[in-house]
Amino acid sequence: MSADRKKEVKPAAVAAQTPQEAPAQPTPAQSGPLKTLAWGLLPAEWRAVCTEFKQPAFRAKQIWKWLQQRRVISWDAMSDIPAAFREKLAEKYDITAWADDAYEQSADDGVRKLLLCCRDGERIESVIIPARDQSTVCISSQAGCAFGCAFCSTGNCGFDRNLEAGEIVGQFIAAAAIAPRRPTHIVFMGMGEPFANYDNVIKAVRILNDFDGIAIGARRMTLSTCGVVPGIERLATENLQVELSVSLHAPTDELRSKIMPVNKRWPMAELMAACDNYTRTTGRVITFEYTLVDGFNNLPEHADRLIELIKPMKGRVNLIPLSPVEHFDGVAPDLESCEAFARRLQKAAINVTLRRSKGKGVTAACGQLRLSRLAAAASAQIPVSDL
Ligand code: SAH
Ligand code: SF4
Repeated sequence: MSADRKKEVKPAAVAAQTPQEAPAQPTPAQSGPLKTLAWGLLPAEWRAVCTEFKQPAFRAKQIWKWLQQRRVISWDAMSDIPAAFREKLAEKYDITAWADDAYEQSADDGVRKLLLCCRDGERIESVIIPARDQSTVCISSQAGCAFGCAFCSTGNCGFDRNLEAGEIVGQFIAAAAIAPRRPTHIVFMGMGEPFANYDNVIKAVRILNDFDGIAIGARRMTLSTCGVVPGIERLATENLQVELSVSLHAPTDELRSKIMPVNKRWPMAELMAACDNYTRTTGRVITFEYTLVDGFNNLPEHADRLIELIKPMKGRVNLIPLSPVEHFDGVAPDLESCEAFARRLQKAAINVTLRRSKGKGVTAACGQLRLSRLAAAASAQIPVSDL
């Protein structure tokens, strides 16, 4: 494997090594207990490792730079770390999170989706979404999801396991390696519910945010939750400047419970009270995600109820027409109807954005690429050494 990942990851290098036709999707996996991933340790934890191995504290900074700035994928590449210490580190920590090559799909609008293979054979998705003046990486927090929202491909497949902090950071690193330009933003809107894997997600946020490492500003990271109230309450106490999105998708308990089972556990009154408390405690705005499903939640009365909910607090609304998924028989409303819904909110002085779904060519909704067994045949394959 190469010493210096920076050299390896140029898009041209990836293209040159990318076979046009990928083989059938393999399922390699390491058996037995896995080592901790080096990408998932905080600077203070590296200092503790140095103490444990009787190394001077400055080695922690050296390791951090090799991992998070130069993003090497071999301990041997860390030329200023003594060989004996490197050996000890290699015995205890894995430096790459991926067991196998990643599959990539690209859409005409520049969206690129990666299907990564974890060391135990789990497959997870990350997406690169370019825009005019920014580039966003959408990452997964869990392999699968236990919340079972009716319209969501990930939810339809059930839950496998939480991702380690190192696997979360590793997705960003893998995406950055093939992104045409340096990613500027991160959204936790891939597979899984971030607040059901709270500790690992917050740890990854702190690692990604570290000024001497990947250095993505906290305000440029968005956590999205389906409404896990204890997670919203905890985040309010973290003193982290991250953005919070709440997936609302319906304005009444009756409707919401039909498509989001989480609503039975934390009904809307409880959810909105936690959101209100969050905005008061942090002074930050919450973005409410609202997926428009024709005839289900896009009538004028639904807009009016949504206005009543959002008006009293610091909130804005993101309207997203439903991405079609096989197991859910709802459809997105036509553009005119979406715009009418948005205008109704706007007239009531609600800050509202109507999003167009991106990445139509890459099985856009979360979890879809993983589902699609055709993905391997339809997509390019990127060698692990490039990630
Ligand atoms: N579990 C978290 C984050 C991951 S899902 C959450 O639910 O917020 C990220 C976003 O994609 C959520 O707003 C989710 O509701 C939305 N989503 C999932 N499937 C979708 C679909 N088919 N069409 C439109 N949005 C979808
Ligand atoms: Fe899980 Fe979010 Fe999908 Fe719901 S929308 S099933 S919470 S990933």
